[in-house]
Amino acid sequence: MIRSKLAVLFAFPVLFCATALYAQVLDSTFARDPHQPVDQDYTEKIQKYTTDPSFTSPLVDYLPASKSVPTPAKILGDISGAPDMLPYAEDVYKYFRLLEASTPRVKVFTIGHSEEGREMIAVAIADAKLLADAKTNDARLAQLADPRTIGLDDAKARPLIDQSWPVYYITGTIHSPETGAPTALMELAYRLAVDDAPYIKYIRSHMIVLITPVVEVDGRDRMVDLYKWHKAHPGQDYPHLSYWGHYVAHDNNRDAMGMTLALTRNVLDTYLGWHAQVLHDLHESVPFLYDNTVGDGPYNAWVDPTLADEWAELGANNVAQMLSFGMPGVFTHGDFDTWSPGYLMFLAGMHNGISRLYETFGNGGADTEKRILDPDEYSRTWYRQNPPLPVVTWSQRDNNNYEETALLSTISYFSQNTRHFLENFYLKSKRSVEKPSLAGPAAYVIPADSAQTNRQIELLNVLKRQHVEISQLEDSVTSPVPAEKRGDKPKQESFPAGSIVIRMDQPYSRIADALLDRQFWAATDPQKHPYDDTGWSFSHLFNLKVVRVTDGSILKAKMTMLSDPAALAGKLSGSGPVFAIENTGQTSLLSLVYKLKGASAKIAEKPFDASGKHFAAGSLIISGASDEVVARALREWSLDASRLEAEPSIPLHAVTAPRIAIMHTWLSTQREGWWRQAFDTAGIPFDYMSTQAVAKEPDLRSKYDVIIFAPVGRASAQEIINGIPMWGNPMPWEKSDLTPNLGRIDSTPDIRPGLGYDGLEHLQKFVEDGGLLITCEDTAQFAIDMGLAPGVSVAPRGEARVDGTVMNTVFVDRDSPVAFGYSTGVPVMSAGGMAFNISNTMGRVGFRSLSDPTEPFSDPYAHRPTGRGSVEDSDEPQGRKIAEAEPLYKQQPWEAKRLNEEDMRNNPQVIPAQLRPDVILRFSDAKSLLLDGLLDKPSAIAEHAILVDAHLGQGNVLLFANNPIYRGETIGNYALVFNAILNYQQLGRPSAPHETSSGNEKTAK
Ligand SMILES: [Zn+2]
Repeated sequence: MIRSKLAVLFAFPVLFCATALYAQVLDSTFARDPHQPVDQDYTEKIQKYTTDPSFTSPLVDYLPASKSVPTPAKILGDISGAPDMLPYAEDVYKYFRLLEASTPRVKVFTIGHSEEGREMIAVAIADAKLLADAKTNDARLAQLADPRTIGLDDAKARPLIDQSWPVYYITGTIHSPETGAPTALMELAYRLAVDDAPYIKYIRSHMIVLITPVVEVDGRDRMVDLYKWHKAHPGQDYPHLSYWGHYVAHDNNRDAMGMTLALTRNVLDTYLGWHAQVLHDLHESVPFLYDNTVGDGPYNAWVDPTLADEWAELGANNVAQMLSFGMPGVFTHGDFDTWSPGYLMFLAGMHNGISRLYETFGNGGADTEKRILDPDEYSRTWYRQNPPLPVVTWSQRDNNNYEETALLSTISYFSQNTRHFLENFYLKSKRSVEKPSLAGPAAYVIPADSAQTNRQIELLNVLKRQHVEISQLEDSVTSPVPAEKRGDKPKQESFPAGSIVIRMDQPYSRIADALLDRQFWAATDPQKHPYDDTGWSFSHLFNLKVVRVTDGSILKAKMTMLSDPAALAGKLSGSGPVFAIENTGQTSLLSLVYKLKGASAKIAEKPFDASGKHFAAGSLIISGASDEVVARALREWSLDASRLEAEPSIPLHAVTAPRIAIMHTWLSTQREGWWRQAFDTAGIPFDYMSTQAVAKEPDLRSKYDVIIFAPVGRASAQEIINGIPMWGNPMPWEKSDLTPNLGRIDSTPDIRPGLGYDGLEHLQKFVEDGGLLITCEDTAQFAIDMGLAPGVSVAPRGEARVDGTVMNTVFVDRDSPVAFGYSTGVPVMSAGGMAFNISNTMGRVGFRSLSDPTEPFSDPYAHRPTGRGSVEDSDEPQGRKIAEAEPLYKQQPWEAKRLNEEDMRNNPQVIPAQLRPDVILRFSDAKSLLLDGLLDKPSAIAEHAILVDAHLGQGNVLLFANNPIYRGETIGNYALVFNAILNYQQLGRPSAPHETSSGNEKTAK
């Protein structure tokens, strides 16, 4: 009951100033140096800004004084965590550089730049001797990190472990509205550099603490602007942070698989560059400190079991220490499954280190606020015996006290156990190298296949960013591969020379395994609320053949390292003035059209053979370009081409570079941000405009061929039309003297107005005038609700459970230009199982049964009435002529109900044939639907349409039920979007389709 002893002390405010003294008596682990003077001013302010004595600890309720080293107040003008003040990243850096200049215990490094060019730094803190020896120390750690260098010999590892200092890497404020970490980390660095408390001296002489104070540096500067605007406009509503990073908001902490963002790459390069043992990421949302390291199940299936023990060890110790200081609301088990490896901290978990994360309590700025907690936040439960208080006055200083206390106590524990954690680090690294013999598999093989090269390069680039070694077979190899079904015999498979091998006997095999393997989340799992996606197999999401090989003989095959995956493409063969590039679902055919301006580009509408090669429909034919220009573009965009003597004599249509706009709301910009990221990466130019701009532009068609309305994220049509309620004050998002970092991506004097009915009318006219509107998930729902997609509705999901699941699909219309380059289907990521129903009439007639959404698709002959004959026969009434009924048709779930004369007679709801929606892609049947993740009771959505081309006037509305451009992970789907753009003029229906009365209606195409 340590807590109650301390609580007695805290119960008397008069004793508050003396707690540190008493605490030393109670807990000698964190005793201060009695001879070191205290910075009185700073210490008084700590106490002043702490709103309750229990919200601090003996570790942080004072600041040691230094004659030579400046405190954070030197830069901040007040102490860390002071109310009403947030420093820009630049000021945070200024302070760390002041520290570096004033003490040999601090070194600052630039670790890279953000998308908008802002610097990211890492700060190393330790005794001068450790920092001076950092290179030598790192050379030792590098051998522990790659035990192949010491022949996996424990005897050689032992002295390395004994001589090495571990590196503990802390990262702050990746989530920009979570504002507390930078000032907490400034003060933490000062304490580590200056404080002579024995436990701190021990830390800095036994380990290196590495700090990146601001991870999302673009978002930090915008957040500070926003906060300044708020302080300058007291009593007014202020905008939410519309843009965090250049592309995405909260999802910057879901990029640890695809690694498309600069911040992820910079952090991993730093983490691995230092051969660090821990990556500890700081967040704010949960009261008062949730060390979510232990979290909840299911745990990721690819982590080393030792890591789970380390989570438990560090988490339990951290909570115990904090409780001993009497700080309420600290816990380590709770809401967070440790399944997906997409979080920033998981870079460590997947690279033989320890991933950790704190959620502290924050006010989204530096205001001191009364905070009212929910019952599930303040209730006592088995893992939270001293829960948060139900109502508190909470300050940024309180937040900083919790963050610093937790970090200091956990780092102290780590410093006392460096050998133990270095042993674990070595063991985990060794087991990663031993994976083929210990756990398997032996390797993943990506067979050489020119049709997949472009997407293979995309995947290999991800693996490269993950620091995974890539090998290439010198000769063809035959290897046993596991049977597809349990109990079947293993097969033999031949892999041609040039095939890619991802060996599992390498230090970072674990991340490659986690990305390329399949995931299975049991419907019966006790975890009913997956924290994030349940499936993510990159083999599927990149639409690639990747073979999991368990037989170790493949590792003995002759292979060489492949350092530059781009070298796999860029081939130019044959002779002649015309270039043909086969469409194989590459991510960059559209890119090429913009790069080869001046040349003539055409699309083959049918397959053809030329130069001894088969070209699929949708292949690109280029003439009037020089060899040199084409060769350079092929290399840049990872494409191969064949020279032809002449254009093939099949139908071709010319393509000009389509004019694209990406339209965003001011409600949320994250999901469309991933689309911008993909378009920028592919070098596809676009205008970026808000729904407000669309409301002011009556003639969109004269400016654009394609408008993309990427998902907003659970926005209703009402929200998209109306925006944010207008009853408060205007909320600007624009550049000003006060807010120099806002308005850079887009700007508005008031974020509240939405698309409005004018904007809707302009969008409708744009489509009717021949434009292509691309919609997805909630914006597809919007298009449906607003009448832009006649005949399309969202299918009821019934009992289906889908949660970030990778699913199988089948192309219904392989002749659609959207399907060019694809085979029979393509795996998709489905957020929640959205799918479409299709109808040839308007209104909800004919086939909807909410109780059982599968009922309309059952066999129409299944329930014959009692009568003569067998179950297969029809009844025949006696005493009259036999009358043949029209044959009944079993409607497929992806089809519209067929109309007969009865249905059509005097029916104004019937959609004219040329405007009926075309289904391009549908879910597979229930049995083969699941690829990766959670899928339960899918019958209501199985086989339903998920990609539909709807027609309005002269134009088209493309509706995706899955998000084809998501977190840089769905590379295999990109070509669906790019094909549609490239062929936007070919998506309409022929105007005179064939219609019959008997239900044998032919598809119009
Ligand atoms: Zn966060």
